Amino acid sequence: MNGSAENGAAGSASAFDLVVRGRLLLPGQPLTSGSVAVIDGSVAAVTLGDAELDAEVVIDAGDALVLPGVVDVHVHTRSAATEGIERATRAAAAGGVTTIVDMPYDADGMIAGLDAFEAKAADVEREAVVDAALWATVPPSGPITEVDALRRAGAAAFKLSTFDTDPRRFPRIDDAQLLAAFAAIAKTDGLVGVHCENDEIVRAGIAAERAAGHHDGPAHARSRPPLAEIEAIGRCLELARATGVRLHLCHVTLGRGIELADRARAARVDVTAETCPHYLLLDEYELTRQGATAKINPPLRAPSEVGALWQALAAGTCDLVASDHVGWPVERKRGDDIFAVAAGAPGLELMLPLMHDAIVARGLPPALLVHALCEAPARRFGLWPRKGSLLPGADADLVVLDPDERWTIDPARLTTACGWSPYEGRELHGRVRLVLLRGRQVYADGAVVGAAGGGRFVGANGIATREVAHV
Ligand SMILES: [Zn+2]
Repeated sequence: MNGSAENGAAGSASAFDLVVRGRLLLPGQPLTSGSVAVIDGSVAAVTLGDAELDAEVVIDAGDALVLPGVVDVHVHTRSAATEGIERATRAAAAGGVTTIVDMPYDADGMIAGLDAFEAKAADVEREAVVDAALWATVPPSGPITEVDALRRAGAAAFKLSTFDTDPRRFPRIDDAQLLAAFAAIAKTDGLVGVHCENDEIVRAGIAAERAAGHHDGPAHARSRPPLAEIEAIGRCLELARATGVRLHLCHVTLGRGIELADRARAARVDVTAETCPHYLLLDEYELTRQGATAKINPPLRAPSEVGALWQALAAGTCDLVASDHVGWPVERKRGDDIFAVAAGAPGLELMLPLMHDAIVARGLPPALLVHALCEAPARRFGLWPRKGSLLPGADADLVVLDPDERWTIDPARLTTACGWSPYEGRELHGRVRLVLLRGRQVYADGAVVGAAGGGRFVGANGIATREVAHV
């Protein structure tokens, strides 16, 4: 990038600490040249046009895009003990993600109570390179007593799963407990996010594939049919309707899932739907081509579903995009038995460039990028307007993205520790050049320059709201 730093004249105080000039990419607006002015780590002003603002440091990004830092609401930093908060948030910085919302299913146990939550928030302050808010969860059985305390401590949302990923750290919540949890969370005006897959249908599907001697990639998709996801979505929508809880559907893979959410909205259910880059950019054929590196739960789907998700994203019925990042070491993604390898893929570092490339290639408005990756997730998780916006007073979390640079994804050159990617070899248009967290550089010209302790825990005390797309 053509960055230039100019010191203010000696002895004269500049109006602003920092000004970043470029083509501003803001929700609901066409690309316009302009400047973002920063004082004390917060956005002080945004001006359109070429007016020169007086600042101690001026970064001229030329024709590059300037947008709010990405808010990735679905990240698992501690599922893989080999990754952790520091390494994952370094990858976030490299990918233009300035706020993550981290999942509660950590390798050493789940975050279901206030003590564990506060300990993790303290770890964030020590280890994080970008800012982090936190999900919590509830115990899979027994009384649900800590929702209110967790909300007051700043928990952004409560994650529950209808599928038993791991009985100790990522358990299935049965229907009676799901209902009790929805009711308890509703009382605090909180947000509940659910991994929707019907446990019994999936278990039976895996057993049937194994019995038939099938354990290759495509067997994974067959074992988790669309109905397994749709049934669980429908059940959660009814429970949300009955309890009045604010519901977020994590990683929706199917057009019908979005359609059910949209119908429920018409019946006054407060629901948002999330999808992920892998459901928009990869299809089930990857389970044949790549095998285990394409194993994700729910599975990659038919190409027709990819098309349906894009339509929903463009129409605003799918609200936001999140990475569902998990940085498994490559050993966990190898083996002849698809049912024995870990599910999930790293995506934090590539989400913004992948989505930018795809939105431009599809001729969709660039503002969709900041709606789906910045504003909508920040609003829904109670972080807006401090995060996901460039309104005056917001944290000066900025990304400079060069829309023209071509590059090819090489997992060996990524920041994430895992060394593999389901997007290996993909050529992209557009690359992150510079990332600022509260006005300070955390990534510049190919290197992470932020350090552990630079990121903060962000308590989400705002009310989760749904903003209709206005791109
Ligand atoms: Zn997840």
